[in-house]
Amino acid sequence: MKIRSIRSYVLRVPLGDKLFYSSQAAFPERNSYLVRVETDSGLVGWGEGGQYGPPEPVAACVDHVFAPKLLGRDPTEPVRIWEELYNVSRDFGQKGTYVEAMSALDIALWDIAGQAVGQPVWKMLGGRFRDSVAAYATGCYYPQDFSRLPELLRALEEEASGYTEAGFEFLKVKIGLLSLKDDIERLRTIRAAVGPAIGMLVDANHAYNAASAIRMGRMMETLDVRFFEEPVVPEDKDAYRRVRAENPIPVAGGECEFTRYGFADLITRGCVDIAQPDLAVCGGFTALKQIVAFSSTYGVQVIPHVWGSGIAVAAALQAIATLPPTPHTANPVPLQNEPVIEFDRKHNPLRDDLLEQRFVLENGRVSIPDGPGLGVTVDEAALQRFTVKT
Ligand code: CA
Repeated sequence: MKIRSIRSYVLRVPLGDKLFYSSQAAFPERNSYLVRVETDSGLVGWGEGGQYGPPEPVAACVDHVFAPKLLGRDPTEPVRIWEELYNVSRDFGQKGTYVEAMSALDIALWDIAGQAVGQPVWKMLGGRFRDSVAAYATGCYYPQDFSRLPELLRALEEEASGYTEAGFEFLKVKIGLLSLKDDIERLRTIRAAVGPAIGMLVDANHAYNAASAIRMGRMMETLDVRFFEEPVVPEDKDAYRRVRAENPIPVAGGECEFTRYGFADLITRGCVDIAQPDLAVCGGFTALKQIVAFSSTYGVQVIPHVWGSGIAVAAALQAIATLPPTPHTANPVPLQNEPVIEFDRKHNPLRDDLLEQRFVLENGRVSIPDGPGLGVTVDEAALQRFTVKT
């Protein structure tokens, strides 16, 4: 079997009045880069690369750098191909766009490798530890008019209650755009709305310096926050280590980290309790397997980050199925030693309407697809509707 064609898709949906803020910026649109790899036997594999940045640079990298090297190659050798592409781009790649392009291709090649033998990717990766995974809702962002605190608190109460009614056991809340005092007020309001049973997680999107992050961590202790995601900028490993040592909340990070080399640095320098590689960013399934081996050696739990289209969610589910409990127990508990999946709840038609399948929450859990490859099918009409440039 040989790769016959590789085609890039840039997908975009403007959010209009559904625009929302993290600590870093407004999100005026949802976008994704997808790659479609077709073989001479007619199999089609899909992959996704990058997260929320403009998809065009990833498309250019696939189209101009990597695709010409892959045409005519055997797609069922993704590990070998990963090493080749990394070595080709090492001198100017290593992190960022080149690795995001490799991620998309790696996911698509594993999709094909599974389809070629009629097995899901989780089987190709060595077997699954679970057939469904507990999900956490990602929500409670900031609205466009984030300065009116009383109105903001009322809206949060309603939004957070909706997640408990939907059956979520965990909720991730954005922090870092407002003062520590106002963000604590938001968290208190949410805690009161959802009650003590819900596991609350927070994500600062690297809004703080170490001193503010440590102060925030201490202020959050009474609210039973289960992890503190991206407290400080990803490059500042010393700040990460300081925050981890001096604040009581477990520290999570890694969605902007790349390959085994990047995660080796994050983990050996004692930065995180929970590593969050994103399949579409870190280098796909091939890199994830290496990162998991490394993390488990150091007792660091892996909970993949996922915020992309349905293809990224499908890839995350396949990968999460294969993560061993960290550490092993006879009764793994979600988040404590059992992985959970990020289930973004903000408006994103690329996640909800792109595939013929839908990922549904049942008793707080999402099933792992069982079909060959990624186990999902792209809805061609939806793809055409969302594609702005091919
Ligand atoms: Ca995040």
